[in-house]
Amino acid sequence: MRSNLAGPRLLLRRLREVMAEPIKAQERLDKIVVLIAANVVAEVCSVYILRADGVLELYATEGLKREAVHQASLRVGQGLVGLIAAEARPLNLPNARAHPAFAYLPETGEEAYNSFLGVPILRAGRTLGVLVVQNQSHRTYLEDEVEALQTTAMVIAEMVAAGELEAIAQKDTGLDLSRPIHATGVALAEGVGLGHVVLHEPRVVVTNLIAEDSEAERQRLDGAINRLRLSIDDLLASGDIAATGEHREVLEAYRMFAYDRGWTRKIEEAIRNGLTAEAAVEKVQSDMRARMLRQTDPYLRERLHDLDDLAHRLIRELMGREHGPQTSELPQDAIIVARNMGAAELLDYGRDRIRGLVLEEGGPTSHVTIVGRALGIPMVGQLDDIVSLADAGDAIIIDGEAGEVHLRPAQDVEHAYAEKVRFRARRQAQYRRLRNKPSVTKDGIEISLQMNAGLLVDLPHLAEAGAAGVGLFRTELQFMVASAFPRMREQQAQYEQVLAAAEGKPVTFRSLDIGGDKVLPYLRSIQEENPAMGWRALRLGLDRPGLLRTQLRALLKAGAGRDLKVMFPMVAEVAEFMRAKDLVERELKHLRRHGHAVPENLRLGVMIEVPSLLFQLEELLHQVDFVSVGSNDLFQFFCAADRGNTRVADRFDTMSRGFLRALKKIVDAANVAHVPVTLCGELAGRPLEAMALIGLGFRDLSMSPAALGPVKAMLRSLDAGRLSARLLPRLDPGHPETDIRDFLKRYAAEMDIAL
Ligand code: PEP
Ligand code: MG
Repeated sequence: MRSNLAGPRLLLRRLREVMAEPIKAQERLDKIVVLIAANVVAEVCSVYILRADGVLELYATEGLKREAVHQASLRVGQGLVGLIAAEARPLNLPNARAHPAFAYLPETGEEAYNSFLGVPILRAGRTLGVLVVQNQSHRTYLEDEVEALQTTAMVIAEMVAAGELEAIAQKDTGLDLSRPIHATGVALAEGVGLGHVVLHEPRVVVTNLIAEDSEAERQRLDGAINRLRLSIDDLLASGDIAATGEHREVLEAYRMFAYDRGWTRKIEEAIRNGLTAEAAVEKVQSDMRARMLRQTDPYLRERLHDLDDLAHRLIRELMGREHGPQTSELPQDAIIVARNMGAAELLDYGRDRIRGLVLEEGGPTSHVTIVGRALGIPMVGQLDDIVSLADAGDAIIIDGEAGEVHLRPAQDVEHAYAEKVRFRARRQAQYRRLRNKPSVTKDGIEISLQMNAGLLVDLPHLAEAGAAGVGLFRTELQFMVASAFPRMREQQAQYEQVLAAAEGKPVTFRSLDIGGDKVLPYLRSIQEENPAMGWRALRLGLDRPGLLRTQLRALLKAGAGRDLKVMFPMVAEVAEFMRAKDLVERELKHLRRHGHAVPENLRLGVMIEVPSLLFQLEELLHQVDFVSVGSNDLFQFFCAADRGNTRVADRFDTMSRGFLRALKKIVDAANVAHVPVTLCGELAGRPLEAMALIGLGFRDLSMSPAALGPVKAMLRSLDAGRLSARLLPRLDPGHPETDIRDFLKRYAAEMDIAL
């Protein structure tokens, strides 16, 4: 059967003329519906646009009652039009009234029509409205008529995106494109930021939709596809994939799509119908996206991302745009929105103008998170679809504490957050003033406050925050952000730089703590039932002594002629420490034998983070130069509650009698043995908990740099002796008061302690 269509090329030419006319938006829409109705030989053609309140409003019609324009409306999901919007796919029905979703709108006078064809108005996979044609006869619309309607829908989508329809939109609701969005993901790095969206992979807006010469467009497509294929082949062949920030698996998927004939054929067909090459890629991608967004299979959704990336690359190729961040054009208050990003890419942006980072993926231990946290950038992750919802330049607020993002926020939300930011800034200024004040309690007890670090970018905080030293340097971070196993020389260089940046302040290096959730991309990880209790940290180091010895040698060389402190994680038996110590001695002997200088004063310590050590304290303290309590792990093993599992991580209270008694036992034993003791888990950085630790007898705490100010403010208003006198009796089994956290809060309020 022949279609009624006067030819897609002719329609597109007419559309181009209408788009070029200097007329108002309503008139343009009115002309478009007349044009479509005439071309498809339909009695009705109507445009429905999605408003911010989720209602599809009739914006233009040929054939239905004119009075219904801007009056008739349907909710998303209501009626056939609502169904198309909800599912983002066309409906082609010879007998619309027989469809279960059919809803009759009396104000439009549509009762006379039987056949119905509707397509979603899509942009980057988002539904902005619905375009419909109707006929009295029972007919099925043909493939090229569906195509023609889809192409017209693209033209209308560009009108919406360009803001052309805002002038005729209802004042109080606005269009869906400018709808405020409040989304909750996962808090990755704390802090609050107000700013404007910068898309990490900026979408290239295709404005030139309609081709003048289809053959020339097809040739442009051929050229661009060839260049795209070559660039992917090159990347895969270069053997240096990680350096580009892309993963081999992703590139393999890219290659598969780039060579997929089905994909290129669809694009060619859209060109044959009169689109420019870039508009054809966008159209095919938009259809594909709408279809795949309904997929719940995570693998297929992942592939959708790959296909999206590839389509963007191809459009860039066609339009001659560069890849990667254009840092020179960054606004002063950039909040980067990305699907995902490598740690190095974040570093490329520089720190100055970035107020936040929002990711569709990203987990608490991903590399970019580690770097973001080190740079003090508020971060929220696991926000589905945020990249397609956000437009470059949109106002956005990121709340890295609550894990929330407000896109195009309403004014009251913006005011509330601006106040929150001012409040935080005032507090930060207060803390900065404390920087050079002594870290001494009201009753004259000196408390050493050190900071935790893991990357070179952390080191400037040492002076900024006024830390006494680095109490925990997590050496595995260098390994986690690298693309290949760092060689001995690279390790040594990093440690030398750390020691130089510390300018004589003590640094406690912790030997590699990999395994568990700390995965190295280039080291094949073995599947374990309980990775936190598995083959990790020192266990791995002792079983693969080559790895540990390389690191020890790098540390000893970096510390030549200076003080060097090294500690070992996840020790469960004193004998493990003795074996590690033996490796150190052997390395020392080796270095001396080859005429190398060695550290002047080498001290070796153990992290207390496995409860078994609590019952070996005497012999342990006899062997070590110092100990450091890793309260994160110690608590997870103490309560058998996985620290990474949100269901149980906060189930038990660190301020419970049992755990406080355990901590007291450690600090008492260390004091008796005259062995220095630090606590470097997250507890040390929370003012209320740090207060309790001082009450138990801890005098040396190591924490994230941001926590130093609040903890110092707390301890300078604390009488440590008085707190101990009130706290310690409450750890006795006979004491009637068992809720220690509650006691600590009341005590702080009563004594006016700055928490
Ligand atoms: C700890 O376990 O408390 C600790 C400081 O080490 P990490 O958090 O790196 O496991
Ligand atoms: Mg630990």
